[in-house]
Amino acid sequence: MELRRSHLREYLVLHTVGRIDHQTSAEFQAELLSAVAEGGADLILDFSGVEYISSAGLSALMTASRHKPRDRRIGVAGLNAVVQEIFTISRFHRIFPLFASVDAAVRDWENSGAAVDGPGPFGVRFWGTRGSLPAPLGHSAVRAKVREALLAAYQRGTPVPEAIEAFIDQELPFSVRSTFGGNTSCVEIVTGGAEYILCDLGTGVREFGNHVLGQRGPDAKGCYNVFMSHMHWDHIMGFPFFMPAYIPGNTIRIHGCHKGLREAIMRQQSDPCFPVNFAALGATIEFVELEPGAAYSVGGLSVCAIKQFHSGDTYGYRFSRGGKAIVYSTDCEHKTGSIDASYPFIEFYRDADLLIFDAMYSLADAISVKADWGHSSNIVAVELAQMAGVKRLALFHHEPVFDDGMIERVLGETVRFEELSRSGHKVEVLSAYDGLEIFL
Ligand SMILES: [Zn+2]
Ligand SMILES: [Zn+2]
Repeated sequence: MELRRSHLREYLVLHTVGRIDHQTSAEFQAELLSAVAEGGADLILDFSGVEYISSAGLSALMTASRHKPRDRRIGVAGLNAVVQEIFTISRFHRIFPLFASVDAAVRDWENSGAAVDGPGPFGVRFWGTRGSLPAPLGHSAVRAKVREALLAAYQRGTPVPEAIEAFIDQELPFSVRSTFGGNTSCVEIVTGGAEYILCDLGTGVREFGNHVLGQRGPDAKGCYNVFMSHMHWDHIMGFPFFMPAYIPGNTIRIHGCHKGLREAIMRQQSDPCFPVNFAALGATIEFVELEPGAAYSVGGLSVCAIKQFHSGDTYGYRFSRGGKAIVYSTDCEHKTGSIDASYPFIEFYRDADLLIFDAMYSLADAISVKADWGHSSNIVAVELAQMAGVKRLALFHHEPVFDDGMIERVLGETVRFEELSRSGHKVEVLSAYDGLEIFL
């Protein structure tokens, strides 16, 4: 095995040729440790000459990764097909960003720091849309979907293999071909800027964090702005599994209008509820208290909060940029008797391009058995959206008892109610699902 170092711009490159196995791994590890100790530069491992890497070689890599300063990156470039496969099987590709070549690594790292605040695409990505409790699909629900799909294919005449994708997308209802998902509230406001913006920390934030790490590599540093509706469990329970919180160099700013934000987040990450104490998180975590009604500028957006009706209060947020607006308004019980033209939410929702709205219950339930439970109905959602001139209404915070078929049925009924009650412009109604992206 041969080892050689070079410098490319501000990066240190370690070129390795030969096999990295139990015979050569000690020498490889010593060179790696010396390279990471040599202050300053990020390290690119040029593997274009590496024929094979064994578990001993991978262990050397892991040791180097653990010894490197926290603000430095190690990337691996130019892997042959076999070495790449070994990285995948061992899951090392999740720890070390892999690049086609040293030049590709340099390009990627230089671009990753170059992002600026807007004007990129402005929209949302839903990571968790379920209310109150995570609601994973069970085996019988999956089986029922398979059965429905097979039955539909049989009735139509089984499609040829090339036509299967079109058959799935065009002929199967959403509730059969897909799922609304089971993660609790977490919505990303996409700006195309350098800072991330999120609403709430339900279980959807776990997938959001893993998605970012998968895209940018574990060593890329980021700033995450979170806007909290409130601290009920379904809105904070994803945070202990939000991997960027464990990575030094990341900044997480948790914004909200409640006084006890820090205590609520800390309490769920303390004995005996969770093994990793809040104080042990590597990221810098800040809490920012906002005033409802005041305008703030965060991540290239203007943000404003409104106080809502829910046990312990909740807050809705209006995000706007360049004349476009997205409103996140969940966990709020709008009492039907109090809604008229002077109702403050009409102004807050006014002309929004997208209104994300808690429509957890039917109207019958919301004003009888579930009155004062803190949630609203699809009927009130449509009426408010119409009065405020909202363009698109996303039903959100789905009842965990509802299966995909039921949520789809509620959506169909809500679209119909919008037609029946429309007196002016049309409100486009949709039902949010985990994974849905909407760009304005
Ligand atoms: Zn909730
Ligand atoms: Zn709540």
